[in-house]
Amino acid sequence: MTELAAHLAAFDRLARPGPWNYSRAHHHDGGVHGFHLVFGSMVHGDEVGSLPAMVRVLQELADGTRTYGGRATFFVGNPEAGREGQRFLESDLNRVFMDNPPDTHEGRRARLLRPILDTADVFLDLHQTIEPTRHAFYIFPFQEQGWLWARALGTTPMWVTRHPGTAFTTGAMCADEYVRALGRPGITIELSEKGFGHGGEDRAYQAITAALALADAVDAGTTTLRAAAEAQPELTFLETVHRERFVDDTLALRPGIVNFDTVRAGDVVSADGTPELVVPKDGMILFPKYPPRVDGTYKRPLPGEIYRVVAPLQGHPLELYADADR
Ligand SMILES: [Zn+2]
Repeated sequence: MTELAAHLAAFDRLARPGPWNYSRAHHHDGGVHGFHLVFGSMVHGDEVGSLPAMVRVLQELADGTRTYGGRATFFVGNPEAGREGQRFLESDLNRVFMDNPPDTHEGRRARLLRPILDTADVFLDLHQTIEPTRHAFYIFPFQEQGWLWARALGTTPMWVTRHPGTAFTTGAMCADEYVRALGRPGITIELSEKGFGHGGEDRAYQAITAALALADAVDAGTTTLRAAAEAQPELTFLETVHRERFVDDTLALRPGIVNFDTVRAGDVVSADGTPELVVPKDGMILFPKYPPRVDGTYKRPLPGEIYRVVAPLQGHPLELYADADR
């Protein structure tokens, strides 16, 4: 049995879907209050690192070594793609949470997951990066309640954010975006490089257990969300300042670039013998792409961008994005 299969089997032994029409979900009801925390793992199939943390929390809730007074749902988004070592099978699950999803494996899965997200008071979507990363980071548009939750959880000080008025992709809907559209915090965390053993499990466990503890403490009146946020250091806000389009098969990054490598305007990041890619702005590289090649041709679909550059926001998003309806 593979490591993933073992963790999925452990999840299946513990999972009680309760009201949900999806077998790879666990619903917990602590009976004290109704605050519904939702945790997503493996929305991208090969981003498996949060699954062991979820299993650990389910085990603790089952044997009573951890309590949570509210409602919590834990779901495994795309284990079928995960078993194939793929991000998705037919269409990216994290793009199809729209009213009329495509009739694909992932579109059908989104239909089953949407009722869970419909009642989420906070949604934490646990992802991992393709390439190694120097930091864990939150990544979602600015939202005041999401900011308070992200800061209070303290999982990482880094947040790659953007103006809340800019949709991720038009004609697509991410899981966290779906929850934000309902007016509630939808928070995506990139825990580590994808896979087991890169630190993602520990960060996921910290994020999940901190969220459970915070929701209980707020219900008990021992703190408020704002006080819990202010007890943690302010986050470092970053935004995308450049996206390099992955225009064709001739492009290639030089080997060894990882997330949050520092770059300066004028730096060349392309591989020898390929069209020159010159970084236009100072910042840090994010999402460098090295898709596998077959006979000189990249695996399709080609990613939209070969890399991007992020840089610190010059000010606090509360002021910079004050025009937005949050
Ligand atoms: Zn992902």
